[in-house]
Amino acid sequence: MTDGPTTEVDVVIVGGGPAGLSAALNLGRARASVVLVDAGRPRNAATLRSHGFLTRDGVPPLELRKLARAELSAYADVRVLDRTLVTAVQQRECGGGRFIAALSGRAAGIPPAVSARSVLVATGLRETLPDIPSLRAYYGMTIFSCAACDAWELQDRPLALIGETPDLAARARLIARWTDRLTVFTNGSDAIDTVEEAELTASGIVVERRAIDDLEGDRGDVSAVRLVDGTRIGVEGGFVRPQWHPALDFLGGIDLERDEFGNLVTDRSGRTSVVGLYAAGDAASPGPQQLIVAAGQGARAAAVLVHDLIGVRTAH
Ligand SMILES: Cc1cc2nc3c(=O)[nH]c(=O)nc-3n(C[C@H](O)[C@H](O)[C@H](O)COP(=O)(O)OP(=O)(O)OC[C@H]3O[C@@H](n4cnc5c(N)ncnc54)[C@H](O)[C@@H]3O)c2cc1C
Repeated sequence: MTDGPTTEVDVVIVGGGPAGLSAALNLGRARASVVLVDAGRPRNAATLRSHGFLTRDGVPPLELRKLARAELSAYADVRVLDRTLVTAVQQRECGGGRFIAALSGRAAGIPPAVSARSVLVATGLRETLPDIPSLRAYYGMTIFSCAACDAWELQDRPLALIGETPDLAARARLIARWTDRLTVFTNGSDAIDTVEEAELTASGIVVERRAIDDLEGDRGDVSAVRLVDGTRIGVEGGFVRPQWHPALDFLGGIDLERDEFGNLVTDRSGRTSVVGLYAAGDAASPGPQQLIVAAGQGARAAAVLVHDLIGVRTAH
């Protein structure tokens, strides 16, 4: 790694969630020089416990990151830039690296840019929740978005599912696996059609079409969904279907293949449609995943990236 006004490395990793951290670990072990840039706003920041990560079931999300950071410190060629944003990535026509990543951060010693032969995008996703005044206060506490991650802790309770998207009926059927007291709130939208409503009702799921006024409860513990007409429906937890948006504005000038939601399309190893540019975790199509899936994709992209850097294609 060379330093100066512009640092030169093999790989710049944008994002320090499980995808980016796992890639950094494996790239460090392959003697690649790496700068990992992390703004420090992971998608699961709202929650207190992460589930389903082998050997770390129930670990606080911050703890998982801390453990990963500690492991990275053993690899001198991996540099982590915290509270730093990649504001733009551009392809270079000539010169040392194929890409230049412009940085913005307040910490001392942050270079203005990093020149890299490859870029791994591991920026996760942003979420917009339905417009319900206090929903944020319950999100990650007793209202979640990922059934595989959090339904176990809520099983057999009266639950809410709140959403406004056409996949709501499918999500309801999934969540009904953990409870037989589920009410699906469309919040005044037409997310569920009449055929779906009949199917859900037949399997014991209540469909509530009236708009929601707000949630009630105490310190993150939801106790009821209050409808605009004042009706209160008691619940002891639930799920919401956020809208997910890619956090990829910094790639503005690069013409990359995206899926219908704007996530980066990759091959099974994380290569995007632009040579030298890779994606892993929630930023890659099809979007929202789980921590261990993101970490696995980061590891896989790292292995392939090393092969690509030296121009060989071999199995492990
Ligand atoms: C409430 C909630 C609870 C969840 N619970 C679980 C669970 O229990 N188990 C589970 O497996 N999964 C859970 N998930 C899903 C899990 O959080 C994600 O699948 C996982 O974090 C994706 O990892 P990632 O590395 O792709 O992205 P993230 O973990 O979101 O990390 C992306 C990082 O990139 C940074 N970044 C973004 N843009 C830039 C930029 N331009 N420059 C620099 N840095 C940038 C962000 O600040 C962030 O730190 C949960 C999600 C939510 C919302």
